[in-house]
Amino acid sequence: MARPSSAKQNVVQQTVVPQLKQYVLTEKIGSGSYATVYKAYKKTGIREVVAIKCILKSSLNKSSTENLLTEIELLKNLKHKHIVELRDFLWDSKFIYLVMEYCGGGDLSRFIRSKRTLPERIVRKFLQQIGLAMQYLHSFNVAHMDLKPQNILLTSSSNPIIKIADFGFAKPMMEGDEMRVMRGSPLYMAPEIICQRSYDARVDLWSIGVILYECLFGRAPFASSSFKELGEKIWDSKPVELPPGVEVSDDCRDLVLRLLRRNPDERISFEEFFVHPFVDLMHTPSPHCIEHAKKLVSAAVAKDSEGDYKSAVSHYCDALAFFVPAIHYENDPAKKDALRAKVREYMGRAEALKQMLKPQRKIGDMLDRSQSSSGDEQLAGMIDEGDSQELQAAMKLIQAAVKEEVKEEFEKALNHYEMALGVFIKLLPKEPKGPRRDLLAQQVERWMSRAEDIKSYLAVQSFNTTTSDTSKQEEDDTQSSVMNQCCVQ
Ligand code: ADP
Ligand code: MG
Repeated sequence: MARPSSAKQNVVQQTVVPQLKQYVLTEKIGSGSYATVYKAYKKTGIREVVAIKCILKSSLNKSSTENLLTEIELLKNLKHKHIVELRDFLWDSKFIYLVMEYCGGGDLSRFIRSKRTLPERIVRKFLQQIGLAMQYLHSFNVAHMDLKPQNILLTSSSNPIIKIADFGFAKPMMEGDEMRVMRGSPLYMAPEIICQRSYDARVDLWSIGVILYECLFGRAPFASSSFKELGEKIWDSKPVELPPGVEVSDDCRDLVLRLLRRNPDERISFEEFFVHPFVDLMHTPSPHCIEHAKKLVSAAVAKDSEGDYKSAVSHYCDALAFFVPAIHYENDPAKKDALRAKVREYMGRAEALKQMLKPQRKIGDMLDRSQSSSGDEQLAGMIDEGDSQELQAAMKLIQAAVKEEVKEEFEKALNHYEMALGVFIKLLPKEPKGPRRDLLAQQVERWMSRAEDIKSYLAVQSFNTTTSDTSKQEEDDTQSSVMNQCCVQ
């Protein structure tokens, strides 16, 4: 296959161990088609461990030199928590050296191999970190073009953070820019590249789909023993399917299948990818979470003091959805604890407000309810066997709803109020003028207001105070840490 730099293969066979004045190169930690990477530390000053990517100059041809220059230029400017940091770059007569932050957890390919498949919650966590890096790259119109597990690094074996590496094929690309050169690794390469069509940054979305698939199922969707077989599988017009018998959530399944659409116009777009429920970058641990959380909590407190408890609960819950990832993002244990204490306080307040909003708890409601039930009794006394079955049944429904409300069976009560109201509202215009009609009109209004109160109470109940999410996230942390300790050594 026509890779841009066939000279890359020579580099792998590089036997001379580079010597650097400022650094001691220790073990070899990796090699790609492009370079050999060593673990190293500085000879003087703080003994900080780094990774040095060494490229033999004699093996560079025109296009691989261009790739290297782009890689250095891009990495010099890209600074992001989930992109490997370029600390320095040096050269001597034989080599070019990229001094990078050291990622002690190895690459994702090794991680998957050691575990065979990864649990969905870990995959999601990794994917969100890849998503944050992609969002950053996308904002600078940079396409990576060689996303694959070997180019995704893990910072450490316990609680690893993902870092995207190897920008050797990356390209600054504006909207509408198209390319035709073959770039990337066949197994992760989008069909439009393999089929030698023009392509754009959306090829990265395909590669993410393949990576996601491989993390979940232990093999790439088009794993093949030859390039010919791979080409045939990619050409196939049958939509990609997930392996049978493997359980994944609906969101996860939806995302994998939308990333792996052969036609880039049908593939999920970057914008859709960033907000897809399985990715949900908005609520992914990042420095912005705490800002959002604080803003929402101030709004909640303001509504709370105004007595608008329904809005207050809603804002507290929205704030909590940001506080949880903010705790996650915070590294300082004391600040983490302080945030946890705040979260508990807001959760408590939201729960208390939910209780206060219970229909029969409000004094006004209690008065209203007693008036309403005496009205009900009067009305029931005015309805007899001579009335239509429909009217009699509707009155029974109201009586049932009132009892259910007392028993706090709010959903049932609401359902019965609504069914009865449907009948009464229909019959009211036909009711002859007189005291029964006046009482009926008055009660209909009261039942409508009861139903509305129950409805808003039920709506507030459905706001998630994220109590379980907090512990779940922390459980996830522990799980991933335990898992990593077991398998990334
Ligand atoms: P190539 O361009 O030759 O593919 P990469 O930059 O992908 O070179 O590096 C090759 C391998 O070296 C990676 O797959 C990874 O296993 C390892 N590696 C690269 N950079 C680092 C780093 N900063 N920390 C730890 N390991 C690294
Ligand atoms: Mg690589």
